[in-house]
Amino acid sequence: MRAAPGSHEVLLVDPSWEVDELEALADDLDTLGLTVVAGFSTHAHFDHLLWHPRFGDVPRWASATTVAVAAATRDILLDELGPWPEALVPLVGDVAAARSSRLAWGGQEVALVEHSGHVPGHTALWLPGPRILLAGDMLSDVEPPLPAADDSSLRAYAAGLDTLEPFVRQAALLMPGHGHATQDAAARLAADRRFVEAVASGSSPASVDGRCSPA
Ligand SMILES: [Zn+2]
Repeated sequence: MRAAPGSHEVLLVDPSWEVDELEALADDLDTLGLTVVAGFSTHAHFDHLLWHPRFGDVPRWASATTVAVAAATRDILLDELGPWPEALVPLVGDVAAARSSRLAWGGQEVALVEHSGHVPGHTALWLPGPRILLAGDMLSDVEPPLPAADDSSLRAYAAGLDTLEPFVRQAALLMPGHGHATQDAAARLAADRRFVEAVASGSSPASVDGRCSPA
């Protein structure tokens, strides 16, 4: 996101997944004349902790819990990542804990909305000016919720949805980490709630959720 309307400085959130996608993103930034001044990782899964040298040596933040989980699971994350250019390995998960619930990046106001729905420390970003919610790996139209099928993780997921609800209600635009943006954030929240309730009640989520293939 841009620091302000018309600004050439941007905050880069969860940049991408594959190396060629990171390269293409760097090309796009060059083409648009945009300069990355900070980065943010929404949570401690490998595809949300990546970076490329061409984005610059700038502050990269995440929640304190995300930083701790990324450090504790670094070997697993690198395994999941698969073959990865050696020069980029030190940049994987190289994030520092954000010090407050407002991101201190010098740009437009960004509020951090932390919960433990998808993984402990998961953090959505709320832009109160344009009323945009960046939801990380929640509220997707292509990926179903991924809590473990045990009671505590389902409770954490439901609590995460409760945490997001006030922002969903106000959102003019919801942007998930995977899938498509929507102006109907409430429908995404309702779909995630139906999914969690189906799993909690022991029924097949595929019966209530088009994002699942029937088993
Ligand atoms: Zn994830």
